[in-house]
Amino acid sequence: MSTSHRTIPIQPAPAGAAPSVDGLGCHAGAEALQTAARAAGKSEVLAQYARDYPVAEGPHAQPQSMCPAFGSLRVGLRMRRTATLLSGSACCVYGLTFTSHFYGARRSVGYVPFTSETLVTGKLFEDIRDAVHEQADPSRVDTVVIINLCVPTASGVPLQLLPKEINGVRLIGIDVPGFGVPTHAEAKDVLAGARLRYAREEVQSGPVAAPRGGRSALPTVTLLGEMFPADPVIIGQMLAPMGLAAGPVVPTREWRELYAALDCAVAAAIHPFYTASVREFEAAGRPVVGSAPVGLEGTQAWLQAVGQAAGLAQSQIDAARNPALAAMRGLLSQKPVQGRITLSGYEGSELLVARLLVECGADLRYVGSACPATPWNAHDREWLQQHGVQVQMRATLEQDLAAVHEYKPQLAVGTTPVVQKAKELCIPALYFTNLISARPLMGVAGAGSLVQVVQAAIGNQQRFDDMKAFFGQTGQGDAAGVWSATPQPRPEFKAEVRRQLDKQARRRKAEEMGS
Ligand code: SF4
Repeated sequence: MSTSHRTIPIQPAPAGAAPSVDGLGCHAGAEALQTAARAAGKSEVLAQYARDYPVAEGPHAQPQSMCPAFGSLRVGLRMRRTATLLSGSACCVYGLTFTSHFYGARRSVGYVPFTSETLVTGKLFEDIRDAVHEQADPSRVDTVVIINLCVPTASGVPLQLLPKEINGVRLIGIDVPGFGVPTHAEAKDVLAGARLRYAREEVQSGPVAAPRGGRSALPTVTLLGEMFPADPVIIGQMLAPMGLAAGPVVPTREWRELYAALDCAVAAAIHPFYTASVREFEAAGRPVVGSAPVGLEGTQAWLQAVGQAAGLAQSQIDAARNPALAAMRGLLSQKPVQGRITLSGYEGSELLVARLLVECGADLRYVGSACPATPWNAHDREWLQQHGVQVQMRATLEQDLAAVHEYKPQLAVGTTPVVQKAKELCIPALYFTNLISARPLMGVAGAGSLVQVVQAAIGNQQRFDDMKAFFGQTGQGDAAGVWSATPQPRPEFKAEVRRQLDKQARRRKAEEMGS
């Protein structure tokens, strides 16, 4: 088949440019898919992603994480009166749907399936158009979100050609390929940014709906980043003495909250990877501050930055800083966390947790985040480095594991594979996503909650030692897995395999020297 037959007719790819993408996935390698996507007309969107979500050079350019599209899907599924549809390979959609329901999405995930034929003839785009028309029922939804996964993005399925609205229902089409968006955290920003852009354009073209509870009487601070529900309340209490209120949390749960979010005095990039969203706040003329009110120094610096960005007098800022700091001083001065810790995760809040741990007295040696260095976490990086912590942005699993081996912590907080490795090494470990990022962090309540869980985990060392003593080497190395009989060592097989491998290596070497 010639390559000209593999294009979407509506937006033909340059002849001969695109390799076939049918059947490719994350296993195919990012390069093949990127080449195909560029050839199929997606250069602009990939270039924007490369600027927004930069990755390092080299083989470990992209951190290992779950399918990035999960971030966008989750944001869509959490929004009221929103239908979220996926266009992609069935295996990807199966995994994404499974993960969504595992994390409690009580909503259906829409799916526009494709076959080789619908992909190469352009019928997939027609199917997507039919699906969004079917879903755009204004009595049920305000918004339909359609997400192109890897293969449709690499094939150039042109979501930009969909109408902007159908029957008054907004339509948002985004490409979220694993070869363009490095982490699921940043994929949240892809959808959040697209929605903010849409809402900003609506604001510019006429009156929009007020927030459900009316406009805030005080100037507000919009909070960027999914956080524990108590955190915005705690932040609101800290801001009140300087005459500010906590505004909506972006990604919002309701469309009209987007207008209120844009209507803020200051946007606070609590999670520092919302690059596209920040662009919308800047376009709306809103100042953006980084970091968050965690620990004593963090709270002091954050309240100062927010107050200044809002143009408040120092006396007003001090009115907020003094009570917030007094409340925290008591707990933190006791340095309640004792122990050596390594920390890694892919949620984007790792540096905030790290700061809080250090202020609570922890001997924190390493913090790794799958998210990139941005202007909004620069201050946290600097602060941590000054406190002797090794900070690794865009950290890979290998770097996180190397830190555990190097620093031999008394507690390893990390992603699933890091936790698994730490437990194998008889080190107490906590899963960052479920056990740390899903609890309050701000103010004295945040510090108290973190201290509790960390102390309890460090105190588990004896249980680990007892288990290790009981199980010994059972289930380790060659004996791992499920066995119906007691595993028998077969040293003669191993020796034979080793001999074959050596022979192969010698032959390869001889060929290299001869060539
Ligand atoms: S959509 Fe996700 S699971 Fe599917 S190929 Fe892309 S990165 Fe992999």
